[in-house]
Amino acid sequence: MANPMPAIFFGHGNPLNALQKNVWTERWVAIGNGITKPKAIVCVSAHWYLPATLVTATEQPRTIYDFGGFPRELYEVEYPAPGKPELAARVRDLLAPVAAGLDERWGLDHGTWSVLHHVFPEADVPVIQLSIDETQPAEFHYELAKHLAPLRDEGVLVMGSGNLVHNLHAYAWGRKQVEPLDWAVRFEDRARGLLLAGDHELLVHYESLGKDAMLSAPTPDHYLPLLYVIALQRENDEVSFPVEGFDGGSISMLSVKIG
Ligand code: ZN
Repeated sequence: MANPMPAIFFGHGNPLNALQKNVWTERWVAIGNGITKPKAIVCVSAHWYLPATLVTATEQPRTIYDFGGFPRELYEVEYPAPGKPELAARVRDLLAPVAAGLDERWGLDHGTWSVLHHVFPEADVPVIQLSIDETQPAEFHYELAKHLAPLRDEGVLVMGSGNLVHNLHAYAWGRKQVEPLDWAVRFEDRARGLLLAGDHELLVHYESLGKDAMLSAPTPDHYLPLLYVIALQRENDEVSFPVEGFDGGSISMLSVKIG
């Protein structure tokens, strides 16, 4: 059997990364060049966070501009990757007994396309999205994601897109690069240690990790996509961090590659 596909968590950060060439987007390009081209992608984005488990099932998902106040050119980016309705049905079946719905209204939000625009710029790999059910605790998401394990053997890349540390209240908007905040660095270090040790128990129960965790993940949406990725880790998988660094002091751009 061919090597299983990796599973990758991307810290997507500012939507403007879609247009920029910077230290993070250059690494995203390198990730795309460094892995076997997937047959399809299942993306769990922080920005499809609602009270249901849904899978996008259209032939041609639209590019969604789910942000406000950015330059016009960002609204002109198109990421015309095809969908893959048969994969959506397969994902729905794998997730049973959780009743996932097939969705024809959503498309690709910026958590997905701002990253994939760099990773697979030709937009020739079919992409579907899996929503995050906001009514469920972290453990639910970690357990649900395990159902997706067979996809790694079928040439499908499972990706999460969020940010390990994501605190917009503390974010330094504007051009000036600032030093990362102490609590942000501490929480990221803690999480890296747990990731390298394979200690998923504490990563799932991150809310028990104290004030640093509360400041780093004040809402679960940008943290939970990480759990969908690490849930797919197998015994001999290497864990690596192909993208590192902080943006605006309070957003970790860390990527986590499993396998
Ligand atoms: Zn985001």
